[in-house]
Amino acid sequence: MQRYSALAVLWGGLTGQTHWKPVWGRPEPKGHYDVIIVGGGGHGLATAYYLAKEHGITNVAVIEKGWLGGGNAGRNTTIIRSNYMIEGNTEFYEHSLKLWENLSQELNFNVMFSQRAHVSLVFSAAERDATARRYNLMRLNGIDGEFWDPAELRRRIPHLNYDQGRFEIFGAYVQPRAGTARHDAVNWGYARAATALGIDIIQNCEVTGFIRRAGALIGVETRRDGVAGEIYADKIGLAVAGHTSVLAHKAGLGKLPLETHKLQAYVSEPIKPIVDQVIVFGGVGHFYISQSDKGGMVFGGDLDSYNSYAQKGNLPVYQNVMAACMQILPCLGRVKLLRQWAGVMDMSMDGSPFITKTDIPGLYLNAGWCYGGFKATPGSGHTFAHTIARDEPHWANARLTLERYREGRLIDESGHGPVPKLH
Ligand SMILES: Cc1cc2nc3c(=O)[nH]c(=O)nc-3n(C[C@H](O)[C@H](O)[C@H](O)COP(=O)(O)OP(=O)(O)OC[C@H]3O[C@@H](n4cnc5c(N)ncnc54)[C@H](O)[C@@H]3O)c2cc1C
Repeated sequence: MQRYSALAVLWGGLTGQTHWKPVWGRPEPKGHYDVIIVGGGGHGLATAYYLAKEHGITNVAVIEKGWLGGGNAGRNTTIIRSNYMIEGNTEFYEHSLKLWENLSQELNFNVMFSQRAHVSLVFSAAERDATARRYNLMRLNGIDGEFWDPAELRRRIPHLNYDQGRFEIFGAYVQPRAGTARHDAVNWGYARAATALGIDIIQNCEVTGFIRRAGALIGVETRRDGVAGEIYADKIGLAVAGHTSVLAHKAGLGKLPLETHKLQAYVSEPIKPIVDQVIVFGGVGHFYISQSDKGGMVFGGDLDSYNSYAQKGNLPVYQNVMAACMQILPCLGRVKLLRQWAGVMDMSMDGSPFITKTDIPGLYLNAGWCYGGFKATPGSGHTFAHTIARDEPHWANARLTLERYREGRLIDESGHGPVPKLH
């Protein structure tokens, strides 16, 4: 792999930038792989990378129906945090955050991970007390967290709408190590590093079905650039986010505890720096905002609450998000919206993911990411690779099983039960 460094940039500047080489190619699929990962989003690419790097399994293909990062991996608002309270999520997301902290060095690719703090505003004494419980439990589990009282908050974020009667701000709970990263860079970084370790990344290739022998999955049926084909593998891992239920059904897994919804995101025209952190406002529904390095305000809200596979959202949610924005940051009222888009979410019934072996020999499942799978990308890839390579979970994903639904051991972080819209 061509190593990126300041010296290489300097050398490129002196020699006419002729030294850059493509970092992944267009390989012809082989007839057989040790492992096929379906889905070239962040999770699929990270899984392939860790299979090669940590387990020496390099005869691996990542099969993507569109282009790398064209799904949720390239559509999210890039919030990264590990402020979870319940066992299962706690250890998994903190494991993931620790991997983020060294990811640019690990991949030799600047993923622009910026630990700018995640600030959750609270609006009543009851909410303050309930969130204190969460943050105290986090701290007992070794996860950073602190409380900013209203004076501290005003000092750090002066532009919030403090002088309004409707949603009095009682302070904020903060995870200082949380932040954002550049989503495309994460996909490209993993794709480049995986390719360098010998992984085949096959784009424009949809998995349309599965090949079975004696109850086990032994390969996938594909449509690549419009042409049907078959690729065989010892093990197949699904990392297809919002399309999980469709593919899992084809694989014979039956009905999963998942619903597919879409989630919208918005970005404004670039403005001067105004918000240094990620701010979350739950006063009216759900609203979160940060500012990109280019200056655009990046924000989002709730799911569109009906099931759909369309990668576009509808106006009612749009209206709610803008109303929330005006409530908490009215200074943005005259800023122009530049773009809006949506992704297809795999909402699980307890709001937590699963990374697990399945009852079907040869099939492994990675899904249920809801609103929060971007932050999970390194942890998900790392533990899914471990699960596939060793046929047993990593300690960090040991509780993220499908059995928990059968046995009633839900990891219901928000306590909302099987109502995807509320997670
Ligand atoms: C608007 C929005 C905002 C979000 N904000 C955040 C956030 O701030 N923080 C956070 O942590 N998370 C966030 N998320 C969630 C996060 O983006 C996802 O949970 C995560 O990206 C899912 O994992 P992935 O990257 O592997 O998924 P994807 O990138 O969706 O990858 C799945 C891939 O599978 C491919 N695929 C599907 N079917 C097939 C098939 N049959 N054959 C081959 N390939 C197939 C798709 O084309 C896709 O590329 C957000 C999501 C959206 C949409």
